[in-house]
Formats: sequence, C-alpha cells, structure tokens
Amino acid sequence: MDEPANDNSGPVPASKRRCPICGRPAAPDMTPFCSKRCADVDLHRWLGEGYRVPVEVDDDMRDSPDGE
Ligand SMILES: [Zn+2]
Repeated sequence: MDEPANDNSGPVPASKRRCPICGRPAAPDMTPFCSKRCADVDLHRWLGEGYRVPVEVDDDMRDSPDGE
C-alpha cells in the first residue's frame, strides 16, 4: 500500500498569538487581541495611563519586540 505521507506538518499560522489582555488566543480579525472588547480594554488602558502614543506602529513591524 502506498499511503500518502501525512506526516508533513503544515504551515504554522502566524495568528497563534495570545491576547495581551486576557491571554486567550488572538482572533485573526482582532490580532493581537482575542476580541474587540480586549482591544478596547487595551485602548482604555492607554488612555487611562495618560500615555500618549505618538504613532500606531504596524503590527508587522512589532513582530520582534526584542529585535534589532
Ligand atoms: Zn482577550
């Protein structure tokens, strides 16, 4: 029998991140958050801290937090 080798691990989805708010798996539409609610929480956290974000960096650019 020549069965197809299904041992090849497929491409790992890059959306395997976890929500920084609750730790749940991030939703593809809400990366890096799991839901709009958490995204809102994060936003309010920023506003609550009185911290001003000069510019929203692209998520793609923030792939490596410890890069450089
Ligand atoms: Zn969340």
